[in-house]
Amino acid sequence: MQRDYDLFVIGGGSGGVRCARIAAQYGARVAIAEEYRWGGTCVIRGCVPKKLMVYASEVRQAVADARGFGWTIGEATFDWPTFLAAKDQEIARLSGIYGELLRKAGAKVLDGRAVVRGPNTVELNGQTITAERIVIATGGTPSWPNDIADGWISSNEVFHLPTLPNRIAIYGGGYVAVEFAHIFAGMGAAVDIIHRDTRALRGFDDEVREHVMLGLARAGITVHAGRTVAANRTGANGSGRVLVLDDGSEIACDVALAATGRAPATAALGLDTAGVAVTPRGAVIVDDYSRTNVPSIFAIGDVTDRVTLTPVAIREGHALADTLFGNKPTMVHHTGIATAVFTQAPVGVVGLSEAAAVAAGHDVQVFRSTFRPMRNAFVGRDDKTFMKLVIDRATRKVLGVHMVGADAPEIIQMAAIAVTMGATKDDFDRTVAVHPTAAEEFVLMRG
Ligand code: NDP
Repeated sequence: MQRDYDLFVIGGGSGGVRCARIAAQYGARVAIAEEYRWGGTCVIRGCVPKKLMVYASEVRQAVADARGFGWTIGEATFDWPTFLAAKDQEIARLSGIYGELLRKAGAKVLDGRAVVRGPNTVELNGQTITAERIVIATGGTPSWPNDIADGWISSNEVFHLPTLPNRIAIYGGGYVAVEFAHIFAGMGAAVDIIHRDTRALRGFDDEVREHVMLGLARAGITVHAGRTVAANRTGANGSGRVLVLDDGSEIACDVALAATGRAPATAALGLDTAGVAVTPRGAVIVDDYSRTNVPSIFAIGDVTDRVTLTPVAIREGHALADTLFGNKPTMVHHTGIATAVFTQAPVGVVGLSEAAAVAAGHDVQVFRSTFRPMRNAFVGRDDKTFMKLVIDRATRKVLGVHMVGADAPEIIQMAAIAVTMGATKDDFDRTVAVHPTAAEEFVLMRG
């Protein structure tokens, strides 16, 4: 008996769309269902609108710098509704492209929430559909501690605030928290950030974290480090929030943003009825080929809680399509993945932090450079760029490349190729610099 489809993908985000598209291009009969908007977290309420907000927010600094370059610019003001409308238009355009790509590849594009009903069965809009294989690509959803009460928005809502808050308080010290702290500061809001560790960005190299903390302070963001939120109530005039911290201090704000992590989106998905094993956090457990304990069911992207980054989900989706329909069994390796944090200035990292390299047993040699880039020096800004190489002393291999400074995400993408190829410090040293750039510092660091 032939089933309705060879592959049924649940979730039209980065991973699901890539998997469905490639599988369809291989000739598989593919259907993909999405309950909200095509493009998923990254396109609709994540990386893409966030980056647009970063661009909008960076203009403040650009205008300030312009004066140093001899420009006379009148009073610069930012209009949130104007930006929001343009942003929404762009997101709608991109979301449309995602749907179009799928249709062009020959996939059946279905709107609605699909639920697993068995190893080869899903239910969508009251209809039962069968498939040889099912892929769970439902992503993640913002999560926050049970004990912090109501009154928070998450990163889902932050893209649709009706007005720009005068004052925003952000709870968390991860990617979302530090990126939005800078975004709102740049747009003109007063920003408080509260995180429980002494520094933001746990897991990043300690010196990178140090520079990120300097950047938060430089942007005028009020940092409450080593603190937690103990209580949260409505503001005195019946609007806004008052956060009470564990030391009893209070922060009044118009908007309180919880940026305390994300959890896999597996609730009410029917995985239990199909017998798919999940972790206590709800992440779908998969092997190196993204297969669950049920042989016909697979999972990719944030829902597996491996490395929760868009390009990783895309890689996993592509690898799965290659494995199932391209006759190319492909594993995804989750090491050496470069990452960027779009703080202002941004962070770019590939490979191991100094502490992680030491913990992994390497005899580590470190090269670092802290300097005021030409542009900043010229306009009288004193913020510095930080670069660091973590080297294995015996093999000279570059274990980690770290940067906080303008264009770090762009630069780190290229450095990641070198690290992936197994570059040594000597390879970096014999590379001739491109001058005048900031990136050249990576090939000029000497002991
Ligand atoms: P993160 O996991 O990066 O950070 C969560 C933060 O919340 C941490 O500072 C953590 O503290 C804190 N936290 C967690 N639980 C509690 C608690 N119970 N009480 C107090 N604080 C708590 O999550 P984000 O929401 O920032 O981002 C989610 C994921 O989305 C990221 O991990 C990343 O994978 C992805 N992302 C990537 C971006 C990029 O590539 N530029 C941008 C935005 C998101 P502690 O460190 O002490 O545990």
